[in-house]
Amino acid sequence: MERKLAEFRARKKAQTEADKPAVREIQSEMKAKTSDDSPAVSPDTTGEFLKPKTCPQSPHKQDQSDLLNTTSGCWLQRLVLTHLTLFKVLLWLVLLGLFSELEFGLPFFVISLFYWLYEGLRSPKARQPGEMSAYSVFNPDCQPILGTLTAEQLEGEMGFMEVCLFELQQGVLSVSASVMASSPAVLMRLVASAYAVAEKAGTIVRKVLQSGELGIVEKTGADDLQTLADRLAQKSICASLLKSFPKVTIIGEEELPDESVEEDLIENGHSSLILQKSCPNQYASLKEEELVVWVDPLDGTKEYTEGLLDHVTVLIGIAYRGTAIAGVINQPFYNYQIGAGASLGRTLWGVLGLGAFGFQLQEVPDGKRIITTTRSHSNKLVTDTVQAMEPHDVIRVGGAGNKIIQLVEGKASAYVFASPGCKKWDTCAPEAILHAVGGKLTDIHGNAFRYDANVKHMNSAGVLATLRDHQYYISRVPQAVLQALPSD
Ligand code: AMP
Ligand code: MG
Ligand code: MG
Repeated sequence: MERKLAEFRARKKAQTEADKPAVREIQSEMKAKTSDDSPAVSPDTTGEFLKPKTCPQSPHKQDQSDLLNTTSGCWLQRLVLTHLTLFKVLLWLVLLGLFSELEFGLPFFVISLFYWLYEGLRSPKARQPGEMSAYSVFNPDCQPILGTLTAEQLEGEMGFMEVCLFELQQGVLSVSASVMASSPAVLMRLVASAYAVAEKAGTIVRKVLQSGELGIVEKTGADDLQTLADRLAQKSICASLLKSFPKVTIIGEEELPDESVEEDLIENGHSSLILQKSCPNQYASLKEEELVVWVDPLDGTKEYTEGLLDHVTVLIGIAYRGTAIAGVINQPFYNYQIGAGASLGRTLWGVLGLGAFGFQLQEVPDGKRIITTTRSHSNKLVTDTVQAMEPHDVIRVGGAGNKIIQLVEGKASAYVFASPGCKKWDTCAPEAILHAVGGKLTDIHGNAFRYDANVKHMNSAGVLATLRDHQYYISRVPQAVLQALPSD
């Protein structure tokens, strides 16, 4: 196809050269290439005034004698034709005068016009080589007309597009590709925002404590509290995330009136460090509307009100198709025991398939079983289960987030809570971070939790989380406890 096109172009070029040798002179390179297969060009048989100016190097110089002969014949022919035409015009004028005398001058004139028209169209002769076409009379060199698209331009444009495509494939011209590459995945943008939003919530939690006005409200009882910090932090988290991600589903722990949120509670920032990380392939094309965000604005409220500040965390978990895939935990009072001057607070985060960050992953010494469990929501089921695991040590602290931090920092080997009470917002973010470093969080049967938007909030069959040896702890749960806490 390409070859045929090249041949066609070569033939066209040779013809053009014959008509316009001057152009051919400029394109001497092309001439050398195509002269072999150029078809013979007919000699010009028209008069001198139509004969093209022949280039001295023209390959048609050898035909000059023939040309002269033919031109003389042409002149004779033209002379006869000119006399004949003159005779016709004179005859027509005489007839016109005659018909005018008979008062038929106008009809004669009109009929004559039609006749000339008919004569002109009746037998058009083939245009001789070198003879100008009707169009050429007005545009002798067929110059491109401004505003029109020539075949050459079109071909050129197409060629440019091919070059662009080729260069794009080669990575030379990669404007759109780099734009695409520099646009982070929705999941990473959401995690990056959640990081900044959790830090803002941590600041709110600290400020409310500083203010001394905790605004404590009992929800279901004395062990189920809500403070001004819980309320303000949730307002801040939900409004901030919804502002940037209006299509995500957000489920927060606190039931709050649907009222406008003050501008100073909105966090517009994000972690640039998180945006620089590449999203795991399996989550790279997730859409906002496919994500469910579980928010515990203040985990460990009871401990917060009792001054056990390092038990407190802010939890933002992200779920996709029922699985916790990313999480952010802010610990607002981290380092508070060090005293004045210490930098207060930290943020841990993780994404499945990417890892977890913001802490040093550590393990409990080999063979040591340290159980961490609730300090304010214990019962017989909980204590029986903990004892059945034959722990070397038991730590009782508040907060689900806090207990997962203990697991990943090597302070505890299992988080055991064989009781209803924990909700999906308590476990979503911790589960994602723990799973991101190879740990496991399930109910006490070893069944995974689901985090779809429409699931039951309560984790009725308790919580069991480990960094290693999950199966061992599951196997130690007493039968009576398993029966008392069936899986959902
Ligand atoms: P804990 O380990 O007791 O701090 O509990 C971890 C999370 O589960 C906290 O957010 C608690 O509020 C919640 N939780 C556990 N048990 C209960 C309960 N009986 N009533 C209300 N919340 C509970
Ligand atoms: Mg909680
Ligand atoms: Mg809470």
